[in-house]
Amino acid sequence: MNRLILLLLAGTSVALARQTAPQFPTLPPPALPTGFTAPTGYGDSIYPLLGDAGLDVTHYDLSITSDPRQDAIAGRAVLSVTALRDLGQISLDFAGPKVLGVKLGGEAVRHAQVGEKLLILPSTPVAAGTAFTLTVAYAGTPALHLDPSESDGLRLGWITQAGGSYVLSEPDGAHTYFPCNDVPADGASYSLHLDIPAGYTAVASGVQTRQVTASGRTRTDFELTQPIPSYALTVHVGKLDLETQAGPVGIQIRNAFPVGLPATIKATFAQTPAMLGFLAGWFGPYPYPVYGVAVTADPEIPALETATLSTFPSSQEAPTTALHELAHQWFGDSLRLGDWSDIWLNEGFATYAELLWAQSRGQNTAPLLERWYARLARDPARGLIATRSKQLFDSSSYLRGALALHALRLSIGDEKFRQILSQYASRFAGKSVRTADFLGVARQIGGQNALDAMQPWLVGPALPPFPKDILMQTVR
Ligand SMILES: [Zn+2]
Repeated sequence: MNRLILLLLAGTSVALARQTAPQFPTLPPPALPTGFTAPTGYGDSIYPLLGDAGLDVTHYDLSITSDPRQDAIAGRAVLSVTALRDLGQISLDFAGPKVLGVKLGGEAVRHAQVGEKLLILPSTPVAAGTAFTLTVAYAGTPALHLDPSESDGLRLGWITQAGGSYVLSEPDGAHTYFPCNDVPADGASYSLHLDIPAGYTAVASGVQTRQVTASGRTRTDFELTQPIPSYALTVHVGKLDLETQAGPVGIQIRNAFPVGLPATIKATFAQTPAMLGFLAGWFGPYPYPVYGVAVTADPEIPALETATLSTFPSSQEAPTTALHELAHQWFGDSLRLGDWSDIWLNEGFATYAELLWAQSRGQNTAPLLERWYARLARDPARGLIATRSKQLFDSSSYLRGALALHALRLSIGDEKFRQILSQYASRFAGKSVRTADFLGVARQIGGQNALDAMQPWLVGPALPPFPKDILMQTVR
């Protein structure tokens, strides 16, 4: 995600997607129906109650029927799950549409919607290690779900406005439109079946495998075989122009723009093929068979690294943001967070990619580094591991993370730095990562020097001195 630009622009206008948080009085927790117990969550250190630590969802097969002129959707989700412990009750995250029925395997089972949880009671407990499917049928309006990490009310999830629908989920909006284990640590692959009125176009994460129009409806299927975090899944429905670009070897590039989007905005994305090739040179092969961008009709949402199809506001003019979201396809989507506290592994890396790109274009990046440092010096200093929700998208996640990587690079030189990035990306492709995983690769390739260079940036809270070119000084 790229929210620093939003921070800099804050106060200049009113965002369409931003809403005032509902001012409810504090309510007691909803009562549980007989037989159900309070869910315990996955145990993420920032959002402990999201998800269920007893579940490993490996695949979601989602059928979603929608109409961009209406808020309500209808869906059927088939989850392929492995029980990680004995399950007397199963809890999924889900907010909004009414659940019409739940089956475990072929058997209808009791369920209850309580707050933002869908609780499911197997007729007999599911033993640890068992693989099973859950089928959930639902219909209704996705919840108006506000970003828990922001105070100014960014709306997340399935959003219908201005004649289109799109998805913007980081960190926890996915459960407004499908029941899921809504933590990035539990990644999954996806099959999508989107049913929309004929005349509209649907695009989504993954490879389009089929499209049929009949009886006034168009059904389009997508497959994404690589596991991603739930927030990285995207769907866009609207009056869209689809355009393709010639990609580097084997990668298809398709972009979706709202009809009438100015050519100047489309031009923001003209360099995607060059960026793909460039980043593969630092990070190793691009993780998916397809890439592209989907631009919404909303000028003020933050850009988001939705898998294989990054999402942008209609005002997007900075190619560096396009580069940033592309870099997240490696760091954020392919390598997903094992815990939200490690978000610098997403934002620090995508931000540093902006500097690598600028250097490759022959730009003097010293002023950029100085701006990053000056911005950090103005904000409260903290170590790189986030401890609170409001820190997820602060300057430390982005800029301190990027400067930590710069300090690492200066301590060991470009060649070893490149090896660390590409080894880390390939070793953990499709897996969840913690900070220790990256440090392990850094130590293996860069030795103790590498860890020493990163240490003051990691632990904090004090802002370390501006990183100088230690290696060059040593050589001299
Ligand atoms: Zn980002």
